[in-house]
Amino acid sequence: MKRTAQDILNFVEDNDVKFVRLAFCDIFGNQKNISLFASELPGAFEHGVCFDGSSIAGFMNTEESDLVLWPDPDTVCILPWRPAEGRVMRMYCDITLPDGKPFEGNCRGYLQSVVRRARAMGLICNVGCECEFYLFETDDHGNPTKIPLDHGGYFDIAPLDKGENIRREICFAMEDLGLRPQHSHHESGHGQNEVDFLYAPALRSADNLNTFKSTVKAIAGRNGLFASFMPKPLRDQAGSGLHVNISLKRDGKNLFEGDIAPDSEPGHFIAGILAHARELTAFCNPLPNSYARFGSCEAPQYISWSRQNRSQLVRLPSAHGELCRMEMRSPDPSCNPHLAIGLILAAGLDGIQNKMPLPAPINRNLFLHSSTEGLESLPRSLREAITVAASSDFISNELPLALLNKYFEYQTRLCLDFESAPDPEAWERENCFPTI
Ligand code: GLN
Ligand code: MG
Ligand code: MG
Ligand code: MG
Repeated sequence: MKRTAQDILNFVEDNDVKFVRLAFCDIFGNQKNISLFASELPGAFEHGVCFDGSSIAGFMNTEESDLVLWPDPDTVCILPWRPAEGRVMRMYCDITLPDGKPFEGNCRGYLQSVVRRARAMGLICNVGCECEFYLFETDDHGNPTKIPLDHGGYFDIAPLDKGENIRREICFAMEDLGLRPQHSHHESGHGQNEVDFLYAPALRSADNLNTFKSTVKAIAGRNGLFASFMPKPLRDQAGSGLHVNISLKRDGKNLFEGDIAPDSEPGHFIAGILAHARELTAFCNPLPNSYARFGSCEAPQYISWSRQNRSQLVRLPSAHGELCRMEMRSPDPSCNPHLAIGLILAAGLDGIQNKMPLPAPINRNLFLHSSTEGLESLPRSLREAITVAASSDFISNELPLALLNKYFEYQTRLCLDFESAPDPEAWERENCFPTI
């Protein structure tokens, strides 16, 4: 059952909550928050909380800057890394204009609209994210270095794996936050880790991913480390992916269970994602650095699907019952999860609505050059991804023009800065690495 504002106010009263963080993301997926003293919460539920939208990247101009936050009681949690006395509560917010009208930069609202569209078609979308990250050492001033925590690899154990205690702390914090941790392990890169949590309805899953990222950052920081969600922080090590697993339910039945015929609903859904994959890339892979990840170390480059093969864009992992799903392997953790998940689902729904036929699976290892012939490639740079997305009817029908203009303008500036830097890697290290 959904929580109400009154439930939250009662909880605050009974549980020594002193601060309430109202959290949201800018259009690029960076988390922001304002902390209210708990006594302000009734007013926040009733009238919202006004803030300066012109100070948030991609939101408003100075001339028209006010925006209003509306906390969603259903997203409440206590931040376990903050003090146990005078506790800190957090809620995610939707954002409107001051007159209550929808604000085009409210990406949470966009994902909600896609979920409603699916529901109108009789479909429930569940989403599970697998988010990889690196742990780096910090210097004497607490600033991140590019020295990985360890030299472990895939599934390694201590002493090669030095991340076991951090992952353990992350799991306990996730449990406190209601995220239901499932498995965790050292990933293939030096200092690279993965901690997975249970799938959930699409909106909850996108919110959970933001919670996960801030948890990992907080726990790493508390241990004197820096957690990086940069897609390819080390050129000679694996990139960090954000695999997005999706299942569809109609009348309580998981459509991804069993064989998938080319002209079935799940077949059309995958076909829609493959058809729009190039247009989605600017949103699933928003940084110049995202493109250094594609095409090696199990990150896709070509547009194809298969059952088991990890060189593909879409994979159907072997699973049973509830867990049968499709996995989209291109997104990376630097994306705005509400935008990326919303667009991926919308692409799938478009495939269903237009009855797009599922192409034949490709069972070759696409990391071998000779086997990629005839396959379309994902964009090879952010610049190419922007060009593709900016000329896409699918994208312009999905997202408001004002949001797209700001999004592409910002990304184009990133491309210019990256391309014109005397040493693009040094530019990334200075300008992206510390913030992602
Ligand atoms: N790190 C790979 C990627 O970039 C995924 C590897 C894996 O999870 N097996 O997507
Ligand atoms: Mg995984
Ligand atoms: Mg992995
Ligand atoms: Mg995976």
